[in-house]
Amino acid sequence: MTTTLCLFCRIVAGELPSRRVHEDDVVIAFHDIAPRAPTHILIVPRDHIPSVLDLTEDHGRLLGRLFHVAAEIARSERIAERGYRLVSNVGDWGGQSVDHLHWHLMGGRSMAWPPG
Ligand code: AMP
Repeated sequence: MTTTLCLFCRIVAGELPSRRVHEDDVVIAFHDIAPRAPTHILIVPRDHIPSVLDLTEDHGRLLGRLFHVAAEIARSERIAERGYRLVSNVGDWGGQSVDHLHWHLMGGRSMAWPPG
């Protein structure tokens, strides 16, 4: 399912440009337009799912693919060895600004903990 107003649905559909690093039948991945780390890639399911709050056990295949793709990109971007962060923001206080499920894959520098 897609929604015509959703920013990431429009990127998935190719209506808006993105710098894609991966695409398959389930997920796409592309560079964040405002990178917060030397490597900052978004991993996004093609289907419109608002956030992790909407996930059920039925999304198991999707999540398996998503995390596998994240690991493959981390290796190809050469951030796997030193380590990286994989995060999904949820809701207002969690810092979510696009209501289409996605993970930030961030690396290339040391990450602070806890995040601000
Ligand atoms: P979040 O704030 O966790 O929902 O993450 C949304 C991310 O989407 C932010 O890091 C934005 O910089 C990024 N973003 C917004 N518009 C675009 C776009 N057109 N192409 C790529 N990334 C985008």
